[in-house]
Amino acid sequence: MDNLSTASPAGASLMTDNECRPSQADSAARWSVAAVEALFGLPFNDLLFRAQQVHREHHDANAVQLSTLLSIKTGGCPEDCGYCPQAARYHTGVENQALMSLEDVVAAAKQAREHGATRFCMGAAWRGPKQRDLDRVAEMVRAVRGLGMETCATLGMLKPGQAGQLREAGLDYYNHNIDTAEDNYANIISTRDYGDRIDTLEQVREAGLHVCCGGIVGMGESRNARAKLIAQLANMDPCPESVPINNLVQVPGTPLNGTDKLDPLEFVRTIACARITMPRAMVRLSAGRQELGDAVQVLCFMAGANSIFYGEKLLTTGNPDVENDRSLFARLGLKPLAPSV
Ligand code: SF4
Repeated sequence: MDNLSTASPAGASLMTDNECRPSQADSAARWSVAAVEALFGLPFNDLLFRAQQVHREHHDANAVQLSTLLSIKTGGCPEDCGYCPQAARYHTGVENQALMSLEDVVAAAKQAREHGATRFCMGAAWRGPKQRDLDRVAEMVRAVRGLGMETCATLGMLKPGQAGQLREAGLDYYNHNIDTAEDNYANIISTRDYGDRIDTLEQVREAGLHVCCGGIVGMGESRNARAKLIAQLANMDPCPESVPINNLVQVPGTPLNGTDKLDPLEFVRTIACARITMPRAMVRLSAGRQELGDAVQVLCFMAGANSIFYGEKLLTTGNPDVENDRSLFARLGLKPLAPSV
């Protein structure tokens, strides 16, 4: 059951500013769950104002990174993530498809680049890649990087050496979300645990790859669980360079279909908390953007989101079409961020 209660203005006035700030006890600032919860509880205008201040200190306030996500291997996944239509065990109508060919992936990347995307993410529905599949993905990474785009891959859990192989092929980012708060993890997924995620993230860091790591909200979790998710991300040392925040897309046939919908303003609060606690990260509006509508997306940009997935499909669920995004950007005076590679 969501706890959407917010501090009243009177309550907020009792809150000292230190309650909303990281502890400086160690050399690295750490965010306590209580401090993140205090941020969540700020009056909405105060929270967005603070997020805007942090955002403008570290980023171009009117530039948004455009990323395209291509599902290079769809469906048939042996995992049981309760939100995912690609899990083989759920009857969602998503068919098990083979790994795409190199030629088709390169053609899709070129098309994404023509539409203005600067980052190309390749996602595969695996528990983890078999070595022969990883060899093929490494070729895809090499080819997409050769087009001058930033590259990102999300392939599941990695075995020792695989992150290094992807790095050598030219991969810039590896995406591996922690999904939800550690103590909520077993409510969402049973085929792996939180420690498995951390293990792969450590391998990714050791290989010299940038980390793309975020989570999903709107899965019936409490505000406390959302604060724990944000604190866990913010306290990674270093914290992820890219932080996708997903809003659950409910798909018939998945266990989380029918979950109480999250208040859209609570989603905006989550974006603002991510921005404040991870000032330098690219905070990405990811799955669920279509359901938010233009007005809530605008609030998300004001709250510090500066990256979106762009294109017709986000893995297997819809994404606002390219023309709608272009129109929204024009109305807001937003410009696409140039690639950093
Ligand atoms: S989220 Fe990824 S690992 Fe989980 S079922 Fe879907 S494809 Fe598999």
